[in-house]
Amino acid sequence: MRPLAMTALDAGQLAQLRATLEARLAALSGLDDVREAAPEGARDLPVPEVETSPADKATVRLLNDLALEAAGNHAAQIQVLRHALAKFEDGSYGLCEECGNDIGYSRLQARPEARLCIACQTRFEKR
Ligand SMILES: [Zn+2]
Repeated sequence: MRPLAMTALDAGQLAQLRATLEARLAALSGLDDVREAAPEGARDLPVPEVETSPADKATVRLLNDLALEAAGNHAAQIQVLRHALAKFEDGSYGLCEECGNDIGYSRLQARPEARLCIACQTRFEKR
């Protein structure tokens, strides 16, 4: 019989970390709503590209690229939060996805969305 995934976290700690993740997800989803509510045209191009000098245009493009990049990060963050929340459902939250060891409460408090223990994270970052 395969042992059930069990973390060293108690119910109170799990509830607190889950609430933190849910609050972050709600905050990010709220940003989406604000953007949806923005007037047509203001959504995709935060800075208008009309009636500017070529130098200004370059700046505007850069700003728009940054806005797109931020939107990408935003979507990626939502994915990461959803992924972490899904692990509460199957009981694997708090366990390293690489080695299966406990990620540790202090690390999860700092990064509730962490997928790897500090040892595996360090190994990945060195690659
Ligand atoms: Zn690990």
